[in-house]
Amino acid sequence: MADLKNKVAIVTGGARGIGAAITRELADNGVRVVINYNTSQGPSEKLVQEINDSGGEALAVKGDVSNVEDASQIVEAAVNTFGQLDILVNNAGITRDSTFKKLSEEDWSEVINVNLNSVYNTVSKSLPHLLESESGRIINISSIIGQQGGFGQTNYAAAKAGMIGYTKSLALELARKNITVNAVCPGFIETEMVQEMPEKVLNQIVSSVPVQRLGQAQEIARGVVFLCKDGEYITGQQLNINGGLYM
Ligand code: NAD
Repeated sequence: MADLKNKVAIVTGGARGIGAAITRELADNGVRVVINYNTSQGPSEKLVQEINDSGGEALAVKGDVSNVEDASQIVEAAVNTFGQLDILVNNAGITRDSTFKKLSEEDWSEVINVNLNSVYNTVSKSLPHLLESESGRIINISSIIGQQGGFGQTNYAAAKAGMIGYTKSLALELARKNITVNAVCPGFIETEMVQEMPEKVLNQIVSSVPVQRLGQAQEIARGVVFLCKDGEYITGQQLNINGGLYM
């Protein structure tokens, strides 16, 4: 799939942070993008405008990906508007950090629902359309925390590690169907999610990253586009974009 022009993608949580960078990078490569948002209506409409103004095509669709009916509506909107679906980027995610001793059942369930169960919802609704694509791509935005764990993040780590196991198993099932399935595992990236962390913790993290800085959302987006464009023979993998923090 060297040429992405006129392919159709859904990016969940695609209106801000890493999702917005992925949306822009795909649109810059000629992909028609459905930007799913849950609460970020203003930013998603602004991003649609920005892409349309620069000659691309985008559509904003509201929906909570932890809800299977909403996931179905997002996929329907993509196919009804653009006639096909080639790329699904499962990017939507939340944190509800707390040590396990203090972790409420609600914060456990919410993180598992939004970060992991959502992937069942979006993939199950997208699959019939991806199977019609000449080269389908499923890209799950996991995390370094799913690989190495994180203090106060049992819920988040369980969801993100679950995504990795899911990616490998689905990759096996879809390899003969011209669909690749990969996980992208960012390290610590400068977005609102990371800016919420206490400054002291953040400084400690930066000093432990071999390249000595946080990552940028665009650096994740370029990895996603690489998998879409040149990833015909790459499936079931974890693409680690983390400044060398986990090897
Ligand atoms: P962010 O909080 O800026 O963006 C998350 C996006 O997901 C937002 O647009 C939000 O509205 C959307 N979202 C949340 N719940 C949703 C739901 N139920 N339905 C639809 N959309 C929903 O965070 P980010 O840093 O851009 O993170 C993007 C992804 O990358 C997440 O999955 C996150 O876990 C992962 N990640 C981030 C980092 C980092 O350092 N920032 C590191 C590793 C992994």
